[in-house]
Amino acid sequence: MSEANFDFDLIVIGAGYGGFDAAKHAAQHGLKVAIIESRDMGGTCVNRGCVPSKALLAASGKVRELANVKHLSSLGIHSAPVRFERQKIAEHAINLVSNIRNNLTKTLERSGVEIIRGIGRLEGQQKVGVREKNGVDRVLSAENVIIATGSDPFVPPGIEIDGRTVFTSDHAINLEWLPRWIAIIGSGYIGLEFADIYTALGCEVTMIEALDRVMPTFDVDIVKIASRNLIEGRDIDTKAGVLASKVLPGCPVKIELSEMKTKNFIEELEVDAVLVATGRVPASKDLNLQAVGVETNRGYISIDKRMRVTVQDQIIPNLWAVGDVTGKLMLAHTAAAQGTIAVDNILGKDRQIDYRSIPAATFTHPEISSVGLSEHDAKEASASELFELGVVRSYFKANSKALAELESDGLMKLLFRKDNGEVLGAHIYGLHAADLIQEVSNAIARRLSVVDLAHEVHTHPTLSEVVEVAYKQAASQVGTNSKR
Ligand SMILES: Cc1cc2nc3c(=O)[nH]c(=O)nc-3n(C[C@H](O)[C@H](O)[C@H](O)COP(=O)(O)OP(=O)(O)OC[C@H]3O[C@@H](n4cnc5c(N)ncnc54)[C@H](O)[C@@H]3O)c2cc1C
Repeated sequence: MSEANFDFDLIVIGAGYGGFDAAKHAAQHGLKVAIIESRDMGGTCVNRGCVPSKALLAASGKVRELANVKHLSSLGIHSAPVRFERQKIAEHAINLVSNIRNNLTKTLERSGVEIIRGIGRLEGQQKVGVREKNGVDRVLSAENVIIATGSDPFVPPGIEIDGRTVFTSDHAINLEWLPRWIAIIGSGYIGLEFADIYTALGCEVTMIEALDRVMPTFDVDIVKIASRNLIEGRDIDTKAGVLASKVLPGCPVKIELSEMKTKNFIEELEVDAVLVATGRVPASKDLNLQAVGVETNRGYISIDKRMRVTVQDQIIPNLWAVGDVTGKLMLAHTAAAQGTIAVDNILGKDRQIDYRSIPAATFTHPEISSVGLSEHDAKEASASELFELGVVRSYFKANSKALAELESDGLMKLLFRKDNGEVLGAHIYGLHAADLIQEVSNAIARRLSVVDLAHEVHTHPTLSEVVEVAYKQAASQVGTNSKR
């Protein structure tokens, strides 16, 4: 299908989930595709993110469960003291990464995608330069180019990484050793997941958060119940509103703490290790974006809802960007969805993304999940669009399945419009919250009303009845007190 004057129909730079899905989808639709990868096929998610972290969470979660003598004895179970081998847990993650990476590479090869190992850059309109691993540098042409270069851990100034005693998630996923006392800087989802892993394996954690409260990006009601279990109920000490202004690797690691607001020195901590989980930065600086006149916003590439790269709302022809490098809901499934949408648009199908229906999950024990608007944003929408906001809460302690598991600490908060019942958002903490959110995500994608959703029959006894109860409560309020 390639025009005679182009080397490829499509060149994708970066083989993370965004690039992978784009390249596979394009090749399966008959395009001649090349993908350039400078590091590991599968990108962050497969090699340093979702996959190894979930493998560690699965193993450490079982250790936590088996070590919870009180919980087990309430079910009439008495087990021997739990033992685990750190090395084998680490190997489980390493093996899983290698399996998934190999499968993904084979899938691309079978689809006919040409895999080029090297560092890609732009060399002008429809031109991509690549410095291959063997040192060869060449320029290739393509009718369309997708940038999918992802992101890297952000390390704030003053923090020195040695990869052994002070490290980011890139190193932590190797679980090379278990520090007796580890400080985790940042209480976002990556910090929380690693706190879950480390505490299950017997480490003491100090969580340092620069903002006023821990878990600052989560719904406040969810934080109340989740922090009680995930933080206060564990060997975790928290310091909020506190900046780790200086971190020096060594034995011990020295951390200088100052007050976030005044920057006044508070104290020096000495710990065995520090995990820096302070967010991620886009990987765009080596792309030579100026060759096509693209300016970034703090490194993030601006796109429209069709994934076309834009500069001050002007579309750059034949140039697309997907995944973390665009800074939109930086998750693997977002990247993959964006990749497919970019290719569909290249193929002439008009497709746009709906960020509101993309769910997010934190795989702690228990899990946290959300989709759609936060309560703050929903309130703003209700004020500007003149509808009354409905908020209902459904509790796991009223759910038979959760009670049978003796794991009934959990909450779902559902946000909806009281005038027409449209679901606006949901926030869940509790057993299998990451699976439960999908149902609400599908409802938001179709802009469904709680009135219709309340009629849908859910299996009994399942955790999904928590969602059913929320829909039913919400439906009973639709049409009442409406401003319209
Ligand atoms: C610890 C951790 C846990 C996570 N857990 C989850 C989770 O449970 N669920 C979830 O949805 N998300 C999770 N994420 C986020 C997820 O990993 C990212 O959102 C996702 O990987 C983004 O995909 P991407 O394709 O945009 O970029 P990436 O996966 O970062 O891939 C980009 C690729 O581009 C390559 N590259 C960069 N520059 C160049 C260049 N110039 N030339 C050639 N190649 C280049 C990189 O080497 C990389 O392989 C997690 C992240 C971390 C760090």
